[in-house]
Amino acid sequence: MITDRRPSRATARDEYDASSRLTDIPTPSSDSVPSAIDRIEEARGSAERNAIRDVCEQLLCQFSEFYRVPVPTLKLLGVRPHSTSEGRLASEVLGDYDFRAVRIRLWTRTPMQRQWTSARTILSTLCHEFMHHLDASQLGFPSSYHTTGFFERTHRLYLGMTGQPPYALAWFPPGADGSRAIDWPETNRRKRDADWRRSAASEVDPTLPGLLDAALEREQDPDLRR
Ligand SMILES: [Zn+2]
Repeated sequence: MITDRRPSRATARDEYDASSRLTDIPTPSSDSVPSAIDRIEEARGSAERNAIRDVCEQLLCQFSEFYRVPVPTLKLLGVRPHSTSEGRLASEVLGDYDFRAVRIRLWTRTPMQRQWTSARTILSTLCHEFMHHLDASQLGFPSSYHTTGFFERTHRLYLGMTGQPPYALAWFPPGADGSRAIDWPETNRRKRDADWRRSAASEVDPTLPGLLDAALEREQDPDLRR
């Protein structure tokens, strides 16, 4: 995962930088939107594209209601557009967002095996494409660049929807063109820490998880706290 390069034009750069800074947003929780993954999984099990469309549309309605934005339309398509190199998958498109039509497209079949896309991939793609919609319709980022902030916001939405504790993505320093690549080993370490803190909190005293979380948060690297 890599961000777009940082634009050279001043106004575009301002939008890019503002988008990079906005990392944390409120998200619907798994309490208010129970088991999104289970619902997609059940629809996948029925092997009916209409069932997947229904559950994805319900999720988009719930996202839109939570953020108070118009509901984007959804178009589901078959096998993901892709390219191959020497018989191996080189690139693929999971989904896209059309700013003018206010429409999300989602491809439901994997390119090589032509299997149904996994429930987690469907949900993360929906979160990603919905974030483009939110950028354009509410957050004041009409170009909706793929910045570190964009990926962080998408990640927070996904964590909220899957009931996972929040943690920040880790990024390598910017390259010459201002783009940044995700540091997966460090990101995974943060995820393990977040999971450990949650389980430790419930083991120590289930009545005080919020206090323990707050104490542990204070011990964290200041770079992780925003
Ligand atoms: Zn995108």
